[in-house]
Amino acid sequence: MKTKEKIIREKTYTGIPASPGIAIGKVFVFDSQEEVILSRPVQKDDLPKEIARFEDALIATRREILNIQKQIAQKMGLEHAEIFNAHLMVLEDRALIEEVIKRLEKEECNVEYIFQQVIRKYSEIFAQINDEYLKERSSDIRDVGRRVLHNLTGKKRDDLMHLSEEVIVIAYDLSPSDTALMHKERVIGFATDIGGRTSHTAIMARSLAIPAVVGVHDLSIKLMTGQNVILDGNRGVLIVNPSKSTLRSYQVERERILVFEHKLETLKDLPAQTLDGHKVVLSANIEMPEDIHSVLSHGCHGVGLYRTEFFYMNRTDLPTEEEHMRAYKEVAEKVWPHDVIIRTLDLGGDKFLSHLEIPKEMNPFLGWRAIRFCLERLDIFKVQLRAILRASTSKNIKLMYPMISGVEELKKANNVLEDVKQELKEEGIDFNNDLEVGAMIEIPSAALTADILAKHVDFFSIGTNDLIQYSLAVDRVNEKIAHLYQPAHLGVLRMIRGVIEAGHQGGIWVGMCGEMAGDPAMALILLGMGLDELSTSPATVPEIKKTIRSVRFSDAKDLADEVFRMTSTHEIEKRAMKLLQEVTPELVMLNQARAKRRKALRKRRTA
Ligand code: PEP
Ligand code: MG
Repeated sequence: MKTKEKIIREKTYTGIPASPGIAIGKVFVFDSQEEVILSRPVQKDDLPKEIARFEDALIATRREILNIQKQIAQKMGLEHAEIFNAHLMVLEDRALIEEVIKRLEKEECNVEYIFQQVIRKYSEIFAQINDEYLKERSSDIRDVGRRVLHNLTGKKRDDLMHLSEEVIVIAYDLSPSDTALMHKERVIGFATDIGGRTSHTAIMARSLAIPAVVGVHDLSIKLMTGQNVILDGNRGVLIVNPSKSTLRSYQVERERILVFEHKLETLKDLPAQTLDGHKVVLSANIEMPEDIHSVLSHGCHGVGLYRTEFFYMNRTDLPTEEEHMRAYKEVAEKVWPHDVIIRTLDLGGDKFLSHLEIPKEMNPFLGWRAIRFCLERLDIFKVQLRAILRASTSKNIKLMYPMISGVEELKKANNVLEDVKQELKEEGIDFNNDLEVGAMIEIPSAALTADILAKHVDFFSIGTNDLIQYSLAVDRVNEKIAHLYQPAHLGVLRMIRGVIEAGHQGGIWVGMCGEMAGDPAMALILLGMGLDELSTSPATVPEIKKTIRSVRFSDAKDLADEVFRMTSTHEIEKRAMKLLQEVTPELVMLNQARAKRRKALRKRRTA
């Protein structure tokens, strides 16, 4: 007798790629949604008992969070543990506590019900504000709220620490505490309904190297524990009930990436040197001190761009000089004997900080940002400069200014630096007086006056992410015109060549920290143009090292000469890809998947 077989169809869900890698396995739906608590009347005389229960729950939750903080500090370092300070602050929020007690006295019902209502109200208010920082506070409030409720009701939470098999976790949201404490060997990937690439959870997934996708709407409602899935953290997709052929192609891709990455690992301790002996510095871009693990494990020659904006985000106050200094020193010590180039605050554009009251602008990328902001807010700028100078006793620290548009601005920044040095001298505080200072070249006017700027700095670092958008008048975060954002445009290449030549004629070295340096085909042209340093995301460094080690410098120079005789971007890209294909064909294959991911990332950044 024939049984009717139910055809289970493959279904793809798309979200935001939060952490790269491919995981294939079974779903575990983690119930991080809050439970429904019903209102129950309480006699007036019993209200003090309810208040006492509430206070006990707050104390128990505080103890719990301190305990988690301790565990995380031991396992992952202090920086991760500090995230929980925000949770502790919620527990100590007088306004919130008083609102619960007032409503309790007025409504005379069980405290868990009132507490849940108040927490919901707070978290919704924060979630609706169009601001990354405040949105994240909303999930902190919910996370702490859930803990307090569990302590009030005595119910145990699901936990991700005690899993008996490998799973791909699906949740409405994962709090930093869930992520930090989950069983690292058993959780092979995760996806959440909400969240963005800059949420703490996404950041942690990347540093834990767990593939992750976030922002897949309603996923935790649609999936069930036990379903088979493929989680593709490169492209930001989740494929449920994959067909045999999808599964096979992912298995092949995963194998291929693994084999190739394993091969790249063997280059870790080797220099970025061409077949005919030309060496360049190959360093990494970082955003937080914890990224340094990845810098070290990928064999990067130090840090070519330390974006310091992260210090100012996810907090309500400004970072102190001590905080800055500790972080810079930590990074410098870890990358020793290589260098770390600290970029001063590049606030603005698409990076806003809610607590600094910056008016909304029509054209934020052309507005009051980066060095322009710092030169007006000397109170903020000087704190950072003092910290960089104090940390510079390590000798492997360099400093650079973002968004320099011309020599007057550069001189002004240098004058502030001199003032700060003078202040430190007067205070008897030690620093490296010969600290190297550089300018980012990311505005066409700076590129075109690089010969003049070269007299006032020790190095240039070309920021192509901005240089391209300003040169081609293409908003870097607008997906509608993403196809017009062309690193290989002759106009961009001419500008880069001009900067390299002006820098070298002025006796200084020239590097690049824009995304373009992380594209193997473009890296061949840049190498041929004589760039001295390339800095890209740590995980990309092995590919660029492989590219450099596979080619002759003379061939890269020929390529650079040849592309300047071409007229179309497409022709230039094709010629560079041809050389890449000749010198390292495996990289061309791997790069096709990565290119898609980068494109997706760029698109998502606009959301
Ligand atoms: C750049 O503009 O190329 C750069 C590296 O800076 P950011 O991406 O932080 O603007
Ligand atoms: Mg920039």
